[in-house]
Amino acid sequence: MSPMDVQTRSAEMPVMLSSQVKTMPDPQIVVRKVRQEKRRAMLVIESAGTGTPRLLTHPNTFGAFPERARDNNIRELAKKHEFVADISDLSKNPVVRWQHKHYIQLILLCSFVIPTVIPWLLWNDARGGYVYAGVLRLCFVHHSTFCVNSLAHWLGETPFDDKHTPRDHFATALVTIGEGYHNFHHQFPMDYRNAIKWYQYDPTKWFIWACKKVGLASHLKTFPENEVRKGQLTMQLKKLKETQERLAWPNDSNDLPVISWESFQEQAQKRPLILISGFIHDVSSFIDEHPGGPHLLVKMIGKDATTAFFGGVYDHSNAAHNLLAMKRVGVLHGGMPHGLDDKVVPPSQRLKIARYTELSSPYNSSAMSDGEGLLG
Ligand SMILES: [Zn+2]
Repeated sequence: MSPMDVQTRSAEMPVMLSSQVKTMPDPQIVVRKVRQEKRRAMLVIESAGTGTPRLLTHPNTFGAFPERARDNNIRELAKKHEFVADISDLSKNPVVRWQHKHYIQLILLCSFVIPTVIPWLLWNDARGGYVYAGVLRLCFVHHSTFCVNSLAHWLGETPFDDKHTPRDHFATALVTIGEGYHNFHHQFPMDYRNAIKWYQYDPTKWFIWACKKVGLASHLKTFPENEVRKGQLTMQLKKLKETQERLAWPNDSNDLPVISWESFQEQAQKRPLILISGFIHDVSSFIDEHPGGPHLLVKMIGKDATTAFFGGVYDHSNAAHNLLAMKRVGVLHGGMPHGLDDKVVPPSQRLKIARYTELSSPYNSSAMSDGEGLLG
């Protein structure tokens, strides 16, 4: 730690860190205090002489919602230049200053003395009070707290972003008293909520909201709804793209040989080739499967069946159109005047998901040329 370090301990009352920043004494004294109080320090800001503050965290807490508080503190501190933070409101707050001054005594009093003494006096069960209301309560709260940094970064879904590890899961929400919608929290940390649906379990949010209703809290921040939904959509598209990439798709016109009408006629003598929407299809594997009977296909070999396929004989289903596109083996020279006609693009590809870079140059293939090719 450099002499410029500022330390703060901020567990149950994270606001206390600000008072220390404000009243930062000379550097030597700060270093000494860091060493003395490191064991229970939750937040340490380190400059290391580089001019850039580095934020370190220490897992220590007696509060139920430490990470949200911790993140808020980090943000509050980091957004200010170096160590200059406006903490005048906290410095003036007598309750905060009093609690900060008597921190250790208050921990012992609230965690062990009071839970032991009350059952002892009221129903003569000091041991029960000490064990259940004291030790086990503390144990539960610690485990609950640390689950925010373990379970909440391991179990569940990533509905808003998957760049980092935080995840959303109901079980985590139960264990951590509402911190289970942790993916949302990391993505939109300024938002006072963890869960955004009314039925999701986030008592922390409900508590803050209730405090606002009775005037105990104000300036609650929420991230713009439009941007939240954008994040959701991005993740949904990502999943859909994975599904899309697992499927087989028809050859694009850029990847198929361009065939003249004469060549099409000639090659249709050797195998069942049918022209539909400018594409030449080899239907040899499908003639016997055709629901309308093979004769309808046979009489179209070597011909343009576009009209027949799209309603002249039978208005085929989307599925039929999708399947037909899989049989493409070539493009008729001059046969595709309207490149993005509905008849050219199979229904399954009209809403295809493409990366931004793929959209920039859809016609970058050299396969489309005036020269003739052989059918694949
Ligand atoms: Zn986290």
